Amino acid sequence: MTDFAATRALFHLPEGVIYLDGNSLGPLPVAAEARAAQVLRKEWGDRLIRAWNDADWTTLPARVGDRIARLIGAPAGSVTTGDTLSIKVFQALAAALALRPERRIVLSDTGNFPTDLYIADALTQALNRNLEVKVVAPEQVANAIDDSVAVVMLTQVDYRTGRLHDMAALTARAHAAGALTVWDLAHSAGALPIDVTAARADFAVGCTYKYLNGGPGAPAFIHVAPEHADVAQPILAGWFGHDAPFAFERGYRPAPGVERMRVGTPPIVALSILDAALDAWDHVDMADLRAASIRLSERFIREVEAHCPQVTLASPRDPHARGSQVSFTHPHAYAVMQALIARGVIGDVRAPDVLRFGFTPLYLTEDEVAQAAAILADILATGEWDQPHFHQRANVT
Ligand SMILES: *Cc1c(COP(=O)(O)O)cnc(C)c1O
Repeated sequence: MTDFAATRALFHLPEGVIYLDGNSLGPLPVAAEARAAQVLRKEWGDRLIRAWNDADWTTLPARVGDRIARLIGAPAGSVTTGDTLSIKVFQALAAALALRPERRIVLSDTGNFPTDLYIADALTQALNRNLEVKVVAPEQVANAIDDSVAVVMLTQVDYRTGRLHDMAALTARAHAAGALTVWDLAHSAGALPIDVTAARADFAVGCTYKYLNGGPGAPAFIHVAPEHADVAQPILAGWFGHDAPFAFERGYRPAPGVERMRVGTPPIVALSILDAALDAWDHVDMADLRAASIRLSERFIREVEAHCPQVTLASPRDPHARGSQVSFTHPHAYAVMQALIARGVIGDVRAPDVLRFGFTPLYLTEDEVAQAAAILADILATGEWDQPHFHQRANVT
């Protein structure tokens, strides 16, 4: 059994805070502080440029990639890290489209995150070959897959509602129609067991600052299925994806495998912090994590529905149809969330009316979840949220 008291001790959790926003920005792993200090002072500070070799900076993107691979069911050597998720979406989609040159539809859904759709729009326009991004309701995706579709590009867990797509079933359907898949695992990696190999996902991407606790702006990851890795065309032909970056050849030759999805100089400080953050997963069984996540989210829903008639569940009721977050709607979601945060319960809101709560067993207990629900009930019953300062919007929601 995974020892969640032991994993909780690995995080810096501020006094008086119940943190239900680890789905958006995970908390600071204590080990990350020491690691950052070491990289800054001992590696960069003392070793200077020699650290690229001495401190193994050159292999860090692949080593961190291998640790993430284990969490998403990918073989070692099939994941690399760096850049932001928006860039990894761009690269994965471009590579998938290049493998289906005769087809013109990118199929996605209205539950996808805006940046994924913006990137798809911009990429398809730039390619200028009559491509179309078709966006349907999540429930319509399976039926919309036909032999005009080049790529099915989906986020497995809906950022607003937590609705979970069946990655294996939709991928099988896409393959049967001759299409490829790009799966965005932003809200799944570290949230639930994933097996990209069993699901036969062609490309998978994700960020690491949410459930993986890599810190604000932490590097993203990309997985390319081994069958495509040596033929996928890198649209961003940067020198770090070259077969021999330090040969300084005039022409681009892609590195073998997923390494070709690297672009420029890796963010060593950020990758080191992420590497330290991933220590927290060393003794975590993903099936235990899922069971604990469901226990926490079910308890929250039960308490909120019993004591907060003012809000409506916006997530699937079946825990197996959700990721690791629960959303409720309220007409004044923004002000309600500000009032909650003022009482130490941190979640977030998604426009227009969604109160969103993430459940992260690595550091969250069932008592905290029950307390958070009780505080929400109090704020709603007393109308505490309806004060002018709680209605004032900040830049980040
Ligand atoms: C969080 C998230 C992003 C964020 O992309 P960045 O480039 O890291 O800012 C993209 N897509 C999805 C599905 C997300 O949940």
